[in-house]
Amino acid sequence: MNEEKLVKQFGRLAVLAGFGVLLGGAEVSAQAAPAITLSRLPCGTNAAPTDVGQRFSDVYAYSGLNVQLTFSCYLIRHGDEYMIWDAGNPVGNTPTAPKTSLTALAAQVGVTPAQIKYVGISHYHGDHTGQVGQFPQSTLLIGKGDWDVITDPKSAAMAPLFASWISGGSKVEPLTGDKDVFGDGTVVMLNMPGHTPGHHSLLVRLKDMGNVLITGDVEHFRENYDTNGVPTFNTDRAASLASIDRFKAIAKNLKATVIIQHDQRDVSKLPVFPASAK
Ligand SMILES: [Zn+2]
Repeated sequence: MNEEKLVKQFGRLAVLAGFGVLLGGAEVSAQAAPAITLSRLPCGTNAAPTDVGQRFSDVYAYSGLNVQLTFSCYLIRHGDEYMIWDAGNPVGNTPTAPKTSLTALAAQVGVTPAQIKYVGISHYHGDHTGQVGQFPQSTLLIGKGDWDVITDPKSAAMAPLFASWISGGSKVEPLTGDKDVFGDGTVVMLNMPGHTPGHHSLLVRLKDMGNVLITGDVEHFRENYDTNGVPTFNTDRAASLASIDRFKAIAKNLKATVIIQHDQRDVSKLPVFPASAK
């Protein structure tokens, strides 16, 4: 085959391949896209504003700056299936305990625990895991680095919360990287280690609101987000900086709305529960 014929042949193949891609795309879009919604669930009672210079900066920033921190969990609907993102403070009598449990909040919008296919946990800290035990029928999605700590005999305090997954009675998927939760790119747990070894953030791609990036604790408040601040209690400073760099690049490229879970000023970025963003 001479060069000209080769070029023609290649062109024909390329056209055929392109046609195939188009057909594939048409097949996908012919199926009804699942309805995706995102709600914030209050997951603890706010304490007094926090002096963030005390623990939230390892470079002595913010001396005397007080920020109102809050506790947020999220309910994500994907068609007939649901995901809970983070499990907040435990219910009980502590000052920061939530007034209403996660299962009771879900019930307010007609969602039963059986419909909650996944519980995604950003990291193992107690203000993100307190109510996870309410969802033993759900598959637990959590970074492997965090799961290894939770299941380490030395972290006995955390084990009871996760008893049904540790025993093997419930399903757990320890994640070594990102996780496309529903397999269509609409809800993705993003590997963002540093705050803890297996820390993850969450991307939710909504039809009307557009892309939403939920921090986990990659940052806790706007001032630290703006300056790549690292709290004193993160497990890995270099990993923390790499993660915030990745997080900001994704936010820029996807023109995403960034929601800092612990920052009270970001609560109003989503409708007030039981309303949800679409
Ligand atoms: Zn936290």
